[in-house]
Amino acid sequence: MSVFSAVELAPRDPILGLNEAYAADRRETKVNLGVGVYTDDQGRIPLLRSVAEAEQARVAARAARGYLPIDGIAAYDAAVQKLLFGADSALVAEGRAVTVQALGGTGALKLGADFLKRLDPSAHVAISDPSWENHRALFEAAGFAVDTYRYYDAASHGVDFAGMLADLRGYAAGTVVVLHACCHNPTGVDLDDAQWAQVVDVLRERQLVPFLDIAYQGFGESIEADATAVRRVAASGLPFLVASSFSKSFSLYGERVGALTLVTASSDEAKRVLSQVKRVIRTNYSNPPTHGGTVVATVLNDATLRAQWESELGEMRDRIRAMRDGLVERLKANGAQGDFEFVRQQRGMFSYSGLTSAQVDRLRDEFGIYAVSTGRICVAALRSSNLDMVAKAIATVSA
Ligand code: PMP
Repeated sequence: MSVFSAVELAPRDPILGLNEAYAADRRETKVNLGVGVYTDDQGRIPLLRSVAEAEQARVAARAARGYLPIDGIAAYDAAVQKLLFGADSALVAEGRAVTVQALGGTGALKLGADFLKRLDPSAHVAISDPSWENHRALFEAAGFAVDTYRYYDAASHGVDFAGMLADLRGYAAGTVVVLHACCHNPTGVDLDDAQWAQVVDVLRERQLVPFLDIAYQGFGESIEADATAVRRVAASGLPFLVASSFSKSFSLYGERVGALTLVTASSDEAKRVLSQVKRVIRTNYSNPPTHGGTVVATVLNDATLRAQWESELGEMRDRIRAMRDGLVERLKANGAQGDFEFVRQQRGMFSYSGLTSAQVDRLRDEFGIYAVSTGRICVAALRSSNLDMVAKAIATVSA
């Protein structure tokens, strides 16, 4: 009798399952739009030149691999705060923000979730409908009840903003509200600045706890513009949390580089909060890994590498835009049913394409094009060489 004999097989991760099916597909023209990674026009995950230079410098320095502090590299944590709040942020100057290096955006969310659970075990968490598929699972695993607020409006391919505000207004004080700061995953549909202002008013009136998830800063409009939501919440005076991920913006997926930032009411509160978050880290993985954090800190804190990175980030953003434009144009040229202009308005790597799950099945079976059954496609995985084929296939299945 094994201690594991009663263990049941967990359901397969839907997106990883898709990758397996794609890998097993023998068709040469197959296309994987189910993934959540940016690839260049040759279909490769780029190694940014700024990253490669910082890595070379690190190897050349033959840096020792001692343990990092529990909260990570100080220069990294400070650079994260500058990206989020700007170079001359009052709350940073007042010592109200604390940042800890985390294992990607996922690790940052989990640290925040575990910390919040200890503070208020009965609080609910609210996520957008729909949201990144790991949000619900992650907060439930941390012991929270997870609700959803209205977000996507399929009819307009936009936001059900009245529904969203009404749902936020209905939450009890202390409810943790997870907000996608930019480039909403999976829909690609973001709030505009005026809408953020209204959301922030409701967050403050209802005394909700904002938890911003920023996994695509720089993929939407620019580093600064994509921080609009973060800065609006910062200006509200509310205490809040931010989970940053550099997986996409530095193309460092496997290095697990992220950060959790907590904005508190005072520098004294910040010290106490940091001491408790460090306990969460210490009892989970003790301290973060050195490589990714060192590379990102080096790039962000060196003027030349920083400029290089911003230009590479711009290239990625421009390529995604070009793929959006190209897809819309070719859908038109191929006589696709319906108006796909909304694809151009969406931001970030993803598009809720409006394809039904039956149409997604046909794309896979008849054309070897893999997408998520919700109709989410990764625009950042399209290539000039397959745009036409994808557009023709979409036109065929949506006829
Ligand atoms: N939040 C959102 C909205 C995401 O899309 C992702 C990753 N795709 C993450 C968090 C997690 O990022 P990471 O891979 O750095 O853990």
